[in-house]
Amino acid sequence: MKPSGPIPPDYQARDGQLLIGGETAEALIARAGDTPLFVYDMAVVRDRVARLRAALPDGVAVHYALKANPYPPLLAAMAGLVDGMDVASAGEMALALESGVAAGALSFAGPGKRDRELEAAIAAGVTLNLESDGEVERALAIAERIGRVPRLAVRVNPPFDLRGSGMRMGGGAKPFGVDADRAPALVKRLIGAGADWRGLHIYAGSQTLDADAIIEAQAATVALAAGIADAVGVPPPTVNLGGGFGIPYFSGDAPLDIARVGAALGDCLSRRPSALRDTGFAIELGRWLVGEAGVYLTRIVDRKTSHGETFLVVDGGLHHQLAASGNFGTVVRRNYPIALAGRFFAPADEEASVVGCLCTPLDRLGDKVALPHAEAGDVIAIFMAGAYGASASPAAFLGHPAALELLVG
Ligand SMILES: *Cc1c(COP(=O)(O)O)cnc(C)c1O
Repeated sequence: MKPSGPIPPDYQARDGQLLIGGETAEALIARAGDTPLFVYDMAVVRDRVARLRAALPDGVAVHYALKANPYPPLLAAMAGLVDGMDVASAGEMALALESGVAAGALSFAGPGKRDRELEAAIAAGVTLNLESDGEVERALAIAERIGRVPRLAVRVNPPFDLRGSGMRMGGGAKPFGVDADRAPALVKRLIGAGADWRGLHIYAGSQTLDADAIIEAQAATVALAAGIADAVGVPPPTVNLGGGFGIPYFSGDAPLDIARVGAALGDCLSRRPSALRDTGFAIELGRWLVGEAGVYLTRIVDRKTSHGETFLVVDGGLHHQLAASGNFGTVVRRNYPIALAGRFFAPADEEASVVGCLCTPLDRLGDKVALPHAEAGDVIAIFMAGAYGASASPAAFLGHPAALELLVG
């Protein structure tokens, strides 16, 4: 038997049935029409936003990084909860604008923005987080051509990374942002060209559960921003401090202590260098806000035995939920939290491997997990499916239908 991750405490049962947003899995499937189905519970998202705001010092803006989950009904609900959204393509930008977020509350990062993406952002009044000298020149030329004053920030590749981070995005040679020593010259260049300089974007990594690592990275980020501000001689209107808050996917993981992170950030900002006295700060989070709010429901199609091992073959798979198969940014495959929706909290009485319907050995959603006895027709619930699920999986691989999605709460 191999352990599974902890089921988020937000999920309860009624008569043994898993409830999501107060409804049973079967009722939700009937409402959506079929399995596989992603259900997102907005009540869980609201809880996370409220907890975050309670933990963070006053005045620190909360941004949602859309790439975690761009499902339009979720974005529309999110638009009223957060202070801004961060997008990484013109497609995401269009979704965010449709969700009702003001253009002025959007920022657009990402290496390799095409000219038409830069133009769309400048025309809409969205802040571009520029990632290279070349991109700065292209943005300035496009703004000049279309007769707009562009809102431009510079993304800085920090000379440190977020310790314990699942995906390192700073420290050393990186395709993201400009190296810190290059940033002051670039900021001066765009101020000199008449752009509306919006400030700095500094992102050091993702998915850490270690509060000390985040505290350390935030302090280093504030110091780095102050150094750049000093070198530029103009205070940055805003500094986006990044995020990187992780969620407990696996056995043994403990939730991030956000109260400690928030208290340390308050302390750090209260002692910030005078170059940042009038600066506004933001943090940007994806998975921490939405990851635990999603459940992937997939029905067992077949139950079989091979060499003594029980396989539960489901109608979903890695084409919807790549991360749960261990093929999205993890080195060692471990089990996400998993349960039988119709016998939630029932004691496990067998060991089974839950495999998807794709004809590849990679398609394993639960490896030798402990479950109550299950048969074809039963529904498997895989938790932590609110971030990097449907939109981060190879949906076209093997030609099965896309998963359904439903927002509740
Ligand atoms: C991916 C990404 C995020 C979101 O990361 P999470 O781990 O989901 O919080 C935020 N900002 C940037 C720049 C990113 O690349």
